[in-house]
Amino acid sequence: KGKRAFIAGVADDNGYGWAIAKSLAAAGAEILVGTWVPALNIFESSLRRGKFDESRVLPDGSLMEITKVYPLDAVFDNLDDVPEDIKANKRYAGSSKWTVQEVAESVKEDFGSIDILVHSLANGPEVTKPLLETSRKGYLAAISASSYSYVSLLKHFLPILNPGGSSISLTYIASERIIPGYGGGMSSAKAALESDTRVLAFEAGRKRKIRVNTISAGPLRSRAAKAIGFIDMMIDYSSANAPLQKELSAEEVGNTAAFLASPLASAITGTVLYVDNGLNAMGVGV
Ligand code: NAD
Repeated sequence: KGKRAFIAGVADDNGYGWAIAKSLAAAGAEILVGTWVPALNIFESSLRRGKFDESRVLPDGSLMEITKVYPLDAVFDNLDDVPEDIKANKRYAGSSKWTVQEVAESVKEDFGSIDILVHSLANGPEVTKPLLETSRKGYLAAISASSYSYVSLLKHFLPILNPGGSSISLTYIASERIIPGYGGGMSSAKAALESDTRVLAFEAGRKRKIRVNTISAGPLRSRAAKAIGFIDMMIDYSSANAPLQKELSAEEVGNTAAFLASPLASAITGTVLYVDNGLNAMGVGV
């Protein structure tokens, strides 16, 4: 029987979330996505109007189907967390049930269960500021959107994740090595995400036989990465210095996610898996 995946963090066809959806769809999975509320309208209308049709093409020539798009804001666990100004905001008021708990409940109502949970989202309002210039508020916002959002997603989806299932997030090597420019507490948020991957692997493994892994991906020109401002430099740096001197494609990360979600990876949990042309292994640039 085919597997069902919920991928949080898809709002266009440029990011890792979209590529993961495609690789999972190519492997036969049914695709559900969670899209950030402020990006929902553009994403859905672009999908409807065929703007993504070229990027929906799978290796067998068919088009990837997204069975359902759920509005999601992963910084809110339930309605009690939502401040009045957000509730009153036009874009948020225009849709409903977008807190993590409500999305998990909706997926349960609609489909009963899932097999694969993917977290492909991050946000750091002060990402362009060095850590020394980051405010407490900005730092905590980065952790909330980029790290706790994963704890919350897994917590709320765990009861409907079928045993043997797999959960995957995306991280970046700035968690463990100095990457000037990846600021605002985003490096800290990725360090938390990687540590949580180990602890969650233990807890979800014992509780429901779920595997939990994170992919440490190399640089990709996504919407989020362009907002950081140094993505072209990081891509050039990688091409110049990595063992494999080619540009990383999102599909290579998507295929790794499909592997991690498959029975081929049945003994892999609690790991940080590098998909970066080997750049992480270099000690100096040459
Ligand atoms: P992306 O823009 O495609 O994805 C980020 C998504 O997060 C967007 O769709 C955005 O709408 C969503 N989002 C932001 N705040 C949210 C919230 N509160 N609730 C729900 N959704 C929210 O960019 P991407 O680069 O593909 O990012 C996906 C993941 O990959 C992130 O975790 C990122 O840190 C990681 N990553 C990216 C790179 C890179 O170079 N692009 C490298 C390593 C890791």
